[in-house]
Amino acid sequence: MKKKLVVIGAGMASGRALEHLLEADKDAYDITLFNAEPRGNYNRIMLSPVLSGDKTYEEIVTHDANWYEENGVTCRFGEHVVKIDRERKIVVGQNGEVAYDKLLMATGSAPFIIPVPGKDLPGVIAYRDLDDTNTMIEATQKPGAKAVVIGGGLLGLEAAAGLKARGMDVTVLHLMGHLMERQLDEAAGYLLRRALEDKGIEVKCQASTAAILGEDKVEAVLLQDKTTIPADLVVMAVGIRPETRLANDAAIEVERGITVDDAMRTSDPDILAVGECVEHRQQLFGLVAPLYDQAKVVAATLLEEDAVFAPKEVSTKLKVTGCDLFSAGDFAEGEGREDIVFRDPSRGVYKRLVIENNVIVGAVMYGDTADGNWFFGLIKDKTDISDMRDTLIFGPAFQGGEPLDPLQAVAALPDDAEICGCNGVCKSQIVDAVKAGATDLGAVRAQTKASASCGTCTGLVEQLMAVTLGDDFQMPAAQSVCGCTDLTHEDVRRLIKSKELKSQAAVWQELGWNTPNGCHVCRPAVNYYLLADWPVEYQDDPQSRFVNERKHANIQKDGTYSVVPRMWGGMTTPDELRAIADAADKYNVPTVHVTGGQRIDLLGVKGEDLPAIWKDLNDAGMVSGHAYAKGLRTVKTCVGKDHCRFGTQDSTGLGIKLENKLWGSWSPHKVKLAVSGCPRNCAEATCKDIGVVCVDSGYQVGVAGAAGMDVKETERLMDCETEEETIEVATAFMQLYRENAKYLDRPYKWVAKVGLDWVKEQIVENVENRIALVERFELSQSIYQKDPWAELAAPDEAPKFGPLANLTLEAAE
Ligand SMILES: Cc1cc2nc3c(=O)[nH]c(=O)nc-3n(C[C@H](O)[C@H](O)[C@H](O)COP(=O)(O)OP(=O)(O)OC[C@H]3O[C@@H](n4cnc5c(N)ncnc54)[C@H](O)[C@@H]3O)c2cc1C
Ligand code: SF4
Ligand code: SF4
Repeated sequence: MKKKLVVIGAGMASGRALEHLLEADKDAYDITLFNAEPRGNYNRIMLSPVLSGDKTYEEIVTHDANWYEENGVTCRFGEHVVKIDRERKIVVGQNGEVAYDKLLMATGSAPFIIPVPGKDLPGVIAYRDLDDTNTMIEATQKPGAKAVVIGGGLLGLEAAAGLKARGMDVTVLHLMGHLMERQLDEAAGYLLRRALEDKGIEVKCQASTAAILGEDKVEAVLLQDKTTIPADLVVMAVGIRPETRLANDAAIEVERGITVDDAMRTSDPDILAVGECVEHRQQLFGLVAPLYDQAKVVAATLLEEDAVFAPKEVSTKLKVTGCDLFSAGDFAEGEGREDIVFRDPSRGVYKRLVIENNVIVGAVMYGDTADGNWFFGLIKDKTDISDMRDTLIFGPAFQGGEPLDPLQAVAALPDDAEICGCNGVCKSQIVDAVKAGATDLGAVRAQTKASASCGTCTGLVEQLMAVTLGDDFQMPAAQSVCGCTDLTHEDVRRLIKSKELKSQAAVWQELGWNTPNGCHVCRPAVNYYLLADWPVEYQDDPQSRFVNERKHANIQKDGTYSVVPRMWGGMTTPDELRAIADAADKYNVPTVHVTGGQRIDLLGVKGEDLPAIWKDLNDAGMVSGHAYAKGLRTVKTCVGKDHCRFGTQDSTGLGIKLENKLWGSWSPHKVKLAVSGCPRNCAEATCKDIGVVCVDSGYQVGVAGAAGMDVKETERLMDCETEEETIEVATAFMQLYRENAKYLDRPYKWVAKVGLDWVKEQIVENVENRIALVERFELSQSIYQKDPWAELAAPDEAPKFGPLANLTLEAAE
């Protein structure tokens, strides 16, 4: 008599397992196949083309009625198995029992539904099967209907693209900072987002769903930040969980999935499991490739043959037209790992290989994925790539020959080879311009427009000039930001504005960075440029800051910190002094020092005490003095006309007003101010970044002074008649500096580069521009003028301030 095999679940894994089993031995078992869905096996991964209208359901059926009949499979479709009785070796279906000798569990996964209010409203669905797909297609029939897809992973994006292709308004909400973060790095995630947005899909990252709203059907999605997005359909695609309920109830061993050994046997030797419902050596599965390997093994085990399942690397592709991406292996950054990055901003191409011990361990590519499988092969085979390292990123077509000298390569380019993608300038145009006398980059730019837009072809243009001019060519002296790019700080600032780049990922990609995420040199600069230019759109990235700014305190050479509360205009009160003294006692502060900027510095505070001491000082009404920041530090004042017989104006009052206006703003470097009540200049205003000297007729505003490594007197920017005008001019100068200076240039260095005349043009002569600068400064302050101590003194922030292992020279700044 034939043995009885019962299979629970007619999904992709069991379909493949049955094929192997029947091919090997058609008569080994009497097979009964249960499926909760009212249909047999189909190619689930092709539901997305069905949704977008590229395929019909009939086209994706893998096993039809004939196949089951020919193979003698008894189908119980549309019937849930509700129980497994292991003692009696019986499976209980909704319509009756079936006995088994061997049982194969292939129950797949259940979509995870976020437990928010409104999750059960009609119109809220998951994306798992044909019924979900049909519900979505039906929703698109209503004119003007809107869909919200929660989840920016593979499934969510395929759902979004399908719905959009059928004419729906679609918004994707994604909790993380970039799309498909498990498969893609930030750069590729950025390109993917851009491509989806080009299709008209709205994408919101870092969007956390608070509730789904509606009376008796879904009407909108409410986010934690209180935004409401109207929706007629909500698709939740936030993840899957192995479907283990039956196994649990039957007391089969389950961890996150049904645990199986290498032969796909569960803890009960007569029960096997295959597919997404299993957990094998602590690993879960969500793509079909490993499931097909499992299917082979499970068929062999059913036939009592030896077979072992060993998971292999998997690669991911997204089935959305126009979004070509490929990802495989592990692409996390780590010690001992290095990256090879290639970007072509004009074609929207990004490729990154992660290499460890001369072997590729990960690959991410976007826009041109033709070589994906070749790289995937190198990952799987652990091929030593040392010999092809220089040309590796260009793919298999470029391997094997002698590495080409870059100049030779440029010389070998045909005349019509495009050099500047933005402006469509080809090689011969540049060569002609050089031969006609354009011997420096500026002249070539002016005449041909090559390298005048995104600037990423600058290196190529220079190589072409070098080839054409020979020894007469002189490399321009301009210094690039760091090894990650050939662009200068000035280029980067200009391009961030002109190309409206509003995220780090956008900068890396559009400006052709040759590292995945920049380095410790360029990241703080780019972070600053982005927050200065796009205060509303860009979110400050604390990880791109120096340690002092991350810790909101200056690290000292013994690893302790200094704490400086703000004293507005250098004024203080007995109460503040008492609070400072109490804090010094309470936290055993060894040194209390009065600084040159008229503040009190508590030196020697332990890292773990920082949140507590901040809280105590906050409670006494004091905020951070930003003594560690590239931003406004101090406003020093003299006592002015209230007390001094020489005083001409209220220098202290003006200093306090200026500090109130300017504190909290980030700038390219630290900024120090001072206000003296008369030209005797007791507050030393003439060597500050901005210094005001009060005179009988008003206020002389000087800028660009210095008293550090360099000593320099301020230059007179403008004479003002009123305090208001003085504050306006100082604020406009601060903003002009914020918007234009190179990161880590103090104002005196920056003014030397742009010239005081230009600064005057912007602020003194063009009053409209001055007002606009002040408005932009105020907009930025609406976001950044906040006390970091108050934010970080909360008890749950305290652990972040434990002792630091490494000290760094950044302390000096
Ligand atoms: C829209 C979509 C797109 C995808 N795209 C890709 C892709 O591009 N590449 C890729 O590799 N993977 C993709 N996947 C994932 C892939 O489809 C799954 O990995 C695969 O289908 C899992 O196979 P399975 O047999 O384990 O489970 P399933 O195919 O889910 O089959 C499980 C079956 O068991 C049935 N069942 C569960 N419990 C019971 C019960 N108690 N009684 C009776 N029947 C039961 C279910 O109804 C279901 O039909 C995609 C998935 C979806 C939904
Ligand atoms: S700067 Fe002039 S006003 Fe101020 S304290 Fe000195 S002498 Fe007095
Ligand atoms: S950086 Fe130099 S001047 Fe400044 S505190 Fe340190 S030692 Fe003194």
